[in-house]
Amino acid sequence: MVRMTMLVPKIDVELCVGCGACEDVCPDVFELQDDGLSHVIDATACSECECQEAADSCPTEAITFAEE
Ligand code: SF4
Repeated sequence: MVRMTMLVPKIDVELCVGCGACEDVCPDVFELQDDGLSHVIDATACSECECQEAADSCPTEAITFAEE
């Protein structure tokens, strides 16, 4: 059986400054939480840009992609 892999967004918490830009672009995927940092709440929820726009909007390049 061939298994499809997909790239899912990850956040480097050491780099995230909690600006909220990723949540603005992909609110189904990213959420600012009580710790002041953004978290991935549903990595596969972006149907628009696969979160590339969110990654591009991040000022600290905290968003990377990894195979699920
Ligand atoms: S855009 Fe980057 S720095 Fe801003 S909240 Fe999202 S992950 Fe954190």
